Amino acid sequence: MEASSDTENFMTPKKEKLLSLAVPCYNEALALPYFIEEIQKIRPLLPEINIEVVLINDGSKDDTLETMQKICSECSFVRYISFSRNFGKESAILAGLREAKGDWVAVMDADLQAPPHLLPEMLRSVQEEGYDCVGTRRSTRKGEPPIRSFFARAFYKIINRISSIKLVDGARDFKLLSRQAVEALLSLPEVNRFSKGLYEWIGFKTKWIEFENVEKVAGETKWSFWGLFKYSIEGIYTANDVPQFGIRMDLNDMYYSLAEWCATFLFGNYRSIHC
Ligand code: UDP
Ligand code: MG
Repeated sequence: MEASSDTENFMTPKKEKLLSLAVPCYNEALALPYFIEEIQKIRPLLPEINIEVVLINDGSKDDTLETMQKICSECSFVRYISFSRNFGKESAILAGLREAKGDWVAVMDADLQAPPHLLPEMLRSVQEEGYDCVGTRRSTRKGEPPIRSFFARAFYKIINRISSIKLVDGARDFKLLSRQAVEALLSLPEVNRFSKGLYEWIGFKTKWIEFENVEKVAGETKWSFWGLFKYSIEGIYTANDVPQFGIRMDLNDMYYSLAEWCATFLFGNYRSIHC
């Protein structure tokens, strides 16, 4: 890995603009060195732009934290935040957006499933074409387990039926946002976040770029079937238009109610012991 030098910009014009990359990381010790290597390749392609990388260690159980510390000691353009436990990808994204100082912020997976080579094109779209957001979507679901595709499609059908904001099927979390869009996201009071919904909610002129699904460079998906199911329910819950009568029910209560409803449906006259 190439160490960045503080003298590399000596005698060259000062770069005025900053692009931040916010990278949520859970058990990404193996993938992170490859990620930084790819970013090192992108930096010369954007000579006018400074790049900072904000890594968020979301309570990893492997050597992610140690790997981040090593990377930061070698690369001055990389910083990290470390959570006390695993809070989930959405919390890590929020922390990254808060910490990022850039004129633009890109949210990216650490596993190279958000291909860094798309960054110059995405940046051109916000700089020259007047977009505030550039989203990415998979052109196909090739390579995805059929059960996951089935539930993903069902999820998009449900959410787009019950919500006035429309989610793009196949949209990835890989997104580039202007400072204006980032501030809009940060101004929202939501604690349980569903970023895909919030990106649509804030509006702004958005361009979509399609790309072929990419395999993880290392590691395994962090999503269990149940984890993905819960995430979908949270998405449907937070992005729907049904009035909540001023009460924001805790999601754990909602899971409890769902379980209770299922028990009543299956066993009839189920007595709640919840007090
Ligand atoms: N991630 C995280 N916390 C979690 C789960 C995932 O920060 O609890 C990170 C993960 O390290 C990756 C990104 O979120 O950089 C997306 O996760 P993953 O690649 O497993 O999901 P997929 O690409 O399959 O949607
Ligand atoms: Mg991924």
